[in-house]
Amino acid sequence: MRPFGYERAESAVAAARRAADTGATFIGGGTNLVDLMKLGVMTPERLVDVSRLPNRDIADADDGGLAIGAAATNTALANDPRVRERFRVLSLALLSGATPQIRNKATVGGNLLQRTRCPYFYEVGLPCNKRAPGSGCGARFGRSRDAAVLGTSEHCIAAHPSDMAVAMVALDARLGVRGGDGDLRWLDVDALHRLPGDRPDREHDLAPGDLIETVRLPPPPPGRHVYTKVRDRASYAFALVSVAVVLAVEDGVVTSARVALGGVAPKPWRARAVEAALTGARATWRAFCAAAEAELAPARGHGDNDFKIPLARRAIAGTLAEAAGIAPEVPTGGRRATP
Ligand SMILES: Cc1cc2nc3c(=O)[nH]c(=O)nc-3n(C[C@H](O)[C@H](O)[C@H](O)COP(=O)(O)OP(=O)(O)OC[C@H]3O[C@@H](n4cnc5c(N)ncnc54)[C@H](O)[C@@H]3O)c2cc1C
Repeated sequence: MRPFGYERAESAVAAARRAADTGATFIGGGTNLVDLMKLGVMTPERLVDVSRLPNRDIADADDGGLAIGAAATNTALANDPRVRERFRVLSLALLSGATPQIRNKATVGGNLLQRTRCPYFYEVGLPCNKRAPGSGCGARFGRSRDAAVLGTSEHCIAAHPSDMAVAMVALDARLGVRGGDGDLRWLDVDALHRLPGDRPDREHDLAPGDLIETVRLPPPPPGRHVYTKVRDRASYAFALVSVAVVLAVEDGVVTSARVALGGVAPKPWRARAVEAALTGARATWRAFCAAAEAELAPARGHGDNDFKIPLARRAIAGTLAEAAGIAPEVPTGGRRATP
C-alpha cells in the first residue's frame, strides 16, 4: 500500500471543506476503500475519516419519515426498531449483505458509494474503463458472470453491488449532501449513480468534498415489504439478482407498487415498467410474470451472465407473489409456470 495522510474531521462542514481544499478522499468504515487501496485500485494521497462524525443518529422526521445520519453503521440501521417495523425492506436488504462484522463497521454513506465487484476493476493488470479509462472493458468478452444486463454500454458492464441502496431506491430516499462550500443540498437516491455510457469512470455527479451527510426516508409507502436476494451462497456473497418490493393490494387489485432491482444494472435499478404495469391491475401470477417480462425486455446478456435475465424475471414475479400472498401457478405436469 502506498503511504497516505490521515485525519479525522470534527464536523461534517469541516470534513467537506477539508476534502474540497486538499482533494482528500473520505473514509467511512473502510471495508471497501482499504481493500481497494491495498490492491492499488484506489490510491488516495490523503484520507478524511468521517466514520466518527456526530451524524450517526437515526431520528423521526417531522413528516413521519426517518432521518438517518450517514455515519450510522449498517448494523445500527438494520436493527433500528422503526426500520424493522415500518421500513422492513431496508432492514431485510441490509441484513442480507456482507457479514455481521462488516456491517458493524460499514457506514450508510460508504455503503452507498461502495465500488463495483467486477473482477476486472479489482485486477490492475487487466483492462477496465472504470479504473483506467480507455483501457477497454475486459468483462464484455471475458468473465461476465456477475455483470449487469440492464443499463450497460459498450464501455462497461459492471454491476452495482449494494443491497441497501436497492431498498433505499424503492423507498424514494433522499440524500443530504454537504458541499465543500458548507451548503447542504438534496438529491434523490435514484439520481446518485450514473449509467456508464462512455464515461464509466464517472460513477456519480458528486464533486470532490461532497459528503453524504444524511439520508431521509419519506413516510413508508403502504403495503407488504419483501426483499429477495439470489446468490451463490447463503451468506457472505453479493447478489446475482435482488428484488426489493413494497406492494399494496386491495380487493385483489394492486393499489401501490414500489420495486427496485440489484445485481442486474450498473446502479440500483428502479423497476418502473413493473410499477407501471401493475398499478391498478389485478394481483395475479400472470400479471406479475407479464410485468417482469416488460422490465427485462431491454436486457442483454454477455454470455456468462445470460442466465440473469430469466433469473431476474422469476425473482421479480416470485417476490411480487410473496408480497401479495398468492401462490405461483403450477400448470398440469407439475412444473411451476415461470415467465
Ligand atoms: C467480504 C465482503 C462481503 C460483502 N458483501 C456485501 C453484500 O452482500 N452486499 C452489500 O451491499 N455489500 C457487501 N459488502 C460491501 C460492504 O457493504 C461495503 O464495503 C460497505 O458498505 C462500505 O461502507 P464503508 O463505510 O466501509 O465504506 P468505505 O470503504 O469507508 O468507503 C467506500 C466509498 O465511499 C466513500 N464514502 C464513505 N463515506 C462517505 C460519505 N459519507 N460521503 C461521501 N463518500 C463517502 C469513500 O470515499 C469510498 O469511496 C461486502 C464487503 C465485503 C468486504
